[in-house]
Amino acid sequence: MKASEAILARRTFVRLCTACAAFLGGGPGPQTKAVAQTRAPVRNRKNFVAIQVKPYAWVDEGIDALLDNLQQKGNVNTVWAYTYDYSEARMTRGGTIPLPDHGVSGDPHFVGGAFYDYDPKYFRNTILKDFRSPDYGKFNVIADVAPKVKARGMDFFAWDYNNAVPMMNRNIPNFPQVTEIDVYGKRTTSPCFNHPDYRAHLSGKIESLLSGYASEVDGIAWGCERMGPLQNAIGGGWTTAGISCFCEHCRAKARERQISVDRAQRGYRLLGQLFQAAAQDRRPVDGYFVAFWRLLLEYPEILSWEKL
Ligand SMILES: [Zn+2]
Repeated sequence: MKASEAILARRTFVRLCTACAAFLGGGPGPQTKAVAQTRAPVRNRKNFVAIQVKPYAWVDEGIDALLDNLQQKGNVNTVWAYTYDYSEARMTRGGTIPLPDHGVSGDPHFVGGAFYDYDPKYFRNTILKDFRSPDYGKFNVIADVAPKVKARGMDFFAWDYNNAVPMMNRNIPNFPQVTEIDVYGKRTTSPCFNHPDYRAHLSGKIESLLSGYASEVDGIAWGCERMGPLQNAIGGGWTTAGISCFCEHCRAKARERQISVDRAQRGYRLLGQLFQAAAQDRRPVDGYFVAFWRLLLEYPEILSWEKL
């Protein structure tokens, strides 16, 4: 990406955040006025220099010391603070990430969740309502960090991290009800983006951040490193287990788009067989690429399902 494109993309992103805030504020009415009074417009910084910061980093290094580092060594003007995280990757003694200059070693015990207090009213429409992180003494990254960020003339963005982490399945009550179902009918541990309760969970988070912390949160960075069934079948970094999703909600969405569920399922099962054979070095008669390409041409539903 060229530098000019990168700046444009960032500006577009900031505009989207502003638009998102306006949208969630609703139409004209008392609620919109209340939000407008407390929320300053997002600044379109000429140089948007942001960095992600995990919750434990504030605890280990100290909020002021960490902000000193960001400002003095990185010229950072926007903090993307994780406000929702199930992937700690904390530096521990003898761990996989050797960073000797990072504060102290952490406790590997981690529950994860929202690192802020939210009003349950934002989660009335979902079964996923209990996800406040108990970690680090119930640390509230917005209440404790945002005022200090803003006092330095920096902006505070909530880094809303929505990767699929198996521990969510254990730590969020009712979570197994919203997980994806693979092409063979088996439940996975990854949430389905077409499940209404998971969607309400996501929009509840946006509302709880923008309305619940209107004067602290300047924007939201949407974090999500996930892929569809085709890319998950191919594999590589950030893939999740299972060729999914074939749950009732995804099937219904496919029917609305006039995509054949049966043909998609058949195509993906053949694709699964091809990849299993490849993993065992069982080369198809016509070669791997031809076999793969032929499947995509014979079952265009494979690609259609990828973007459901
Ligand atoms: Zn689904």
